[in-house]
Amino acid sequence: MSTPVESSQAILLLSEGVDVVGIDEAQFFDAEIGNVCEQLAMKGIRVIVAGLDMDYLGTPFGQMPNLLAKADYITKLHAICVKCGNIANISYRKKAEGPQVLLGEKDIYEPRCRHCAATNG
Ligand SMILES: [Zn+2]
Repeated sequence: MSTPVESSQAILLLSEGVDVVGIDEAQFFDAEIGNVCEQLAMKGIRVIVAGLDMDYLGTPFGQMPNLLAKADYITKLHAICVKCGNIANISYRKKAEGPQVLLGEKDIYEPRCRHCAATNG
C-alpha cells in the first residue's frame, strides 16, 4: 500500500504495526525526514528511502545529504546519458529558468553525464 503524505511527520502516524516503510521522492520532504527515519529505525522498522541526490544544477537536493549521512547502507543508481550512453550523473534540465523544482511538465529533464550536461543542446 502506498499513501501520499503532506509532511514527514505523517509517516510516523501511518507506520503503526508495519515492518517496512518505503519513502520515494525523498528530496521533496521537509527538514524532519531524517529524524522521522531515525525514529522508525529505533522502533525496529526497516526504512528504505529513494530520492534524487542532486538537482539539475548539481546541487545536493533537499534533505538527501542528511539522509545519505544517516543511512546504514547506500546504493547509488545511475541512469544512462541520453546523449552518449555513459553513466549519467545529472538530471539535465532543458529549460534554464524557473524554480528548483518544476513538476508535471514532461520532457523537461533528461539524464546526462557531466560532459554532456556541460555542453548544452
Ligand atoms: Zn554523455
